[in-house]
Formats: sequence, structure tokens, C-alpha cells
Amino acid sequence: MSITVHQFPCLSDNYGFLVRDDATGLAACVDTPEAGPILKALDELGWKLALILNTHWHQDHAGGNAEIKAATGATVVGPAEVERLTPLDRKVGGGDVVELGQTRFQVIETGGHTLGHIAYYDAGDHVAFVGDTLFALGCGRMFEGTADQMWTSLQRLAALPDDTRVYCAHEYTASNARFALSVDDDPALKARAAEIFAARERGEPTVPTTIGLEKATNPFLRAPLLRPGVPAHEAFGAVRAAKDAFRG
Ligand code: ZN
Ligand code: FE
Repeated sequence: MSITVHQFPCLSDNYGFLVRDDATGLAACVDTPEAGPILKALDELGWKLALILNTHWHQDHAGGNAEIKAATGATVVGPAEVERLTPLDRKVGGGDVVELGQTRFQVIETGGHTLGHIAYYDAGDHVAFVGDTLFALGCGRMFEGTADQMWTSLQRLAALPDDTRVYCAHEYTASNARFALSVDDDPALKARAAEIFAARERGEPTVPTTIGLEKATNPFLRAPLLRPGVPAHEAFGAVRAAKDAFRG
């Protein structure tokens, strides 16, 4: 089995993701930051949209659902919280499986940014769509959850294979790198930050990342090493609080 992922910018710093199950040609859209660029990309690729997969209820992730469903007839799948914003056809939660042709997406509970946030993991291809939970060198703000919940969610993602390609929903990496360098002087981080600044200068995306790269350099996943002597979720909470206060 295999999939093809098409990634493109939406809004000011979101990414749109279209995924095709190569065996059947059926496509899914992961989150709907805005309908226009997504419908245009589908048209250009000639892909048939079967599914909309939402990670959480925020406008920049589910705001395009209605217009895209009206244009394509796609089935809208997401966590129940999305109905705070827009209707769903199917509600899913941790442990559920969503099929796109021959591709199977496992739903992983990743609450913290919002309480009901989920990620979609394709174990056959080692690909994860993580919304606003894990970012390249960063993690989502905890608008609704606690540090304990967010840490648990991040650990579920960190447990995926190192070579898992991680599609984060925003291009926040350069500012995440500036914060990371303020709390960690690890050589692997410094080298990666230099690559990131150069890539952004050239206008290149820094997404996708991988689980292995994030475990090695992301200060939120490395929090227990950066803040030793306290429970892991407290160390994580301290790093998250430092990021919230960071003006770099
Ligand atoms: Zn969000
Ligand atoms: Fe977002």
C-alpha cells in the first residue's frame, strides 16, 4: 500500500494536506484551513475527494469543511468537538480506524491544545498528521488541556517509529527554533536550527519532520533532560510556560 501527500500553504502560516490512496485514487483532505486553495489543488491534481479528516475544532482546521463538502460530497470525519464549529458525518476518537481505499488511519488521542484533539496515523506508510499537537521544534499551546494531558499526548506521538513522517499544521519552525536555542545548547539542535533558518530564507517548507528528529532536538520532548529532578509532565509544563512568555 502507498499514499501520496500533497502539501501547500493556506492562510498566513497553515499547511493544507491532500492525501491519495494510490491503489484506489481516493483522496482525503486533512483539516480545512480555507476552501479555495484546497478545491483548486484537488482540481489541478485531478483527485477525487472522499474524506475530510479534522484534527480539532479550530476555525483554521475545520472552517472550510462546509464549502468543501458542498463542492465534493466528501464525508466529514473528526472528533466530536468539531461540532462546536461545523457538522460532522462521523465522530471518531482514540483507537478508531478510518479507511481511505486500502489505507488505514489509526486515530490517536492527542488532547491538550484542545481537549478532543486527535492525530491520524497511517502505520503502513509511517505517516502521521498531527494538527496542532506536535510542531517541528515545538508543540501546540494548551488552550484547553493541562500540561499532564499534553505531555501524555506528545508521548503517544513520540512512541511512533523514528522514521514516521510528521505533518504538522503550521509553519512555525523558525520562531520555534529561536525559542529552542534559548533553552537548549545541544549541538544537534544548533545544527538543525541553522538548516531551518537557511531553508526559510530560501522560502522552503520545514514540514514534514520526523519523530526521530523531534525526539533528538525538540525542547518539549527533551523537557525532562532540560529540567531534571521534577516529574516529566512538570518539566514539560515549565518549558511550555517559558515558550508562552518568550518574546524572541
Ligand atoms: Zn488550533
Ligand atoms: Fe491551528
